[in-house]
Order: sequence, then C-alpha cells, then structure tokens
Amino acid sequence: MRILSCLLIFIIAVSAQAMNVVLDPGHGGNDRGATQGLFTEAEITLQVANLVAIDLKRDPRFSVYLTRETDRYMSLEDRASFANKKSDLFLSIHVNSSSDPRASGKEIYFQNQLLPDEESLFLASRENKTMKSEREVTRAVSLNLKSKKNLNPEVRAIVEDLERNHRFKLSGIFTEKLFFHWGGGSQYRRHSIRQAPFFVVSNIDKPAALIEIGYLSNKKEALNLVNPQYQKKIAKGIYHAIISFKEFIDNQAEKSLN
Ligand SMILES: [Zn+2]
Repeated sequence: MRILSCLLIFIIAVSAQAMNVVLDPGHGGNDRGATQGLFTEAEITLQVANLVAIDLKRDPRFSVYLTRETDRYMSLEDRASFANKKSDLFLSIHVNSSSDPRASGKEIYFQNQLLPDEESLFLASRENKTMKSEREVTRAVSLNLKSKKNLNPEVRAIVEDLERNHRFKLSGIFTEKLFFHWGGGSQYRRHSIRQAPFFVVSNIDKPAALIEIGYLSNKKEALNLVNPQYQKKIAKGIYHAIISFKEFIDNQAEKSLN
C-alpha cells in the first residue's frame, strides 16, 4: 500500500506541472523510411511533428521536445534514451507502407501484455531495423533500471511491476485518445489500435505510443500525406488527443485528492 501511495503522490506531483511531451519524427538522414517517388517518410514525419510542436509550444500546459528537429539520422537507442530523460508522454510518428497498394488508414500502437499479431510483428521488425547491435539494445534497456538500483531487489520488482502496469494502462488510454481525436480517415477501432514490440515504445518508461499516420504505398493517400492542409488536420488531431490525455491525468489526480 505504501508503494501505491508513493506512486500516487508522484503522479499527482507530475500532473500539477506542465506535461513534458516528446515527439519523435521517425527516420531521417540516410534512413528515409517508406518512400513513394520523391516523397519520403522521413520528411513527412518531421513536417507533422513540427506542426504538433507549434500548437504545444503555444499552450502553457505543455513543454515539448523533438528527438530530431532537422533531417538527420538518429538511432532508436538515442531516441529512447532522450525520451527517458525528457518525457512524461512520448509519441513516435511514422508513415506506413505495404506491398498491397490498396492498404490505407491510420494505425496506433502501444505496448501491453498481449501477444502481437503477425502483421504487427512484421511492421515492428521493419521499423526496428535501424538498430545498431544487440549490445546497444541491452545497454539502452539497462539505462532504465539504473535509477532504481538502490532499492532492495524485492521492492524494486514490485515497484517496477506497478509502474509497468500503470504505464501500459496509460499508454492504452493515450492510444484511445489518438483514435478519437484523429483528423484523418475513419476506420474501425480494432484495426486501428494495436500492439507491437516497437523498440522506441518498449524501451521508454513513460506512457508511449507509435502512430502510423497513413500508407505512402497508397498513391491517393500519399498525395494527402504530403498535403500541408491534411498534415495540419492530422497535427490538430494529435494535439487534441494530447490535451485530452493531460485532462484525464489531471482528473485522476484530483479524484485521488478528494
Ligand atoms: Zn517508420
């Protein structure tokens, strides 16, 4: 119970301040991600992340950080460790691609304890392929554990378990908010909210989600994805989802105080 109340006090303390949001535009530099003619995922994700950042910067309830602000390469390990230092909430932005030119629509991923389906595993392996080496991955994961090294192992295991479950729950709530506030094409929820072992989402100790904003392999959707008006619509949807998530956290904190 004591651990639970400590965790609660921590959540209340965090929610009273501005929320630190880390936006992660996928790919960049030599890693272009998905492509369609001259259009690249690296460019589109940066444009959309910048639009979301403009809204968040104007809003005193948030502080916003981008893992990259220019078209440069950044490893997944560096993105995760940046997010672990800076974020209360993390969102990685990507563009999808498929061998089926008809595939379209958004997909939002978070980590939970369910087994991912095969398609999600395939997508995760594609998005994770820029990782340097197994050793780098192990190092990045162990960074998370260092801060709790002074706790006795039994207490540490309980704290980590509570934190993990809490994080899964909040990440799930954030993906729901992204789904409902989305400004793009409508789709069935069960096709849109999924889970997959993306490196950046799995190695962050805060609520985190990864959004694939559409398919660059679909010619019609590709034209939308590079259209500044459509990008603004997506960005507004993401911004409102982040506001709604912050309001949820603040309400929870208020309820526990009453
Ligand atoms: Zn990607």
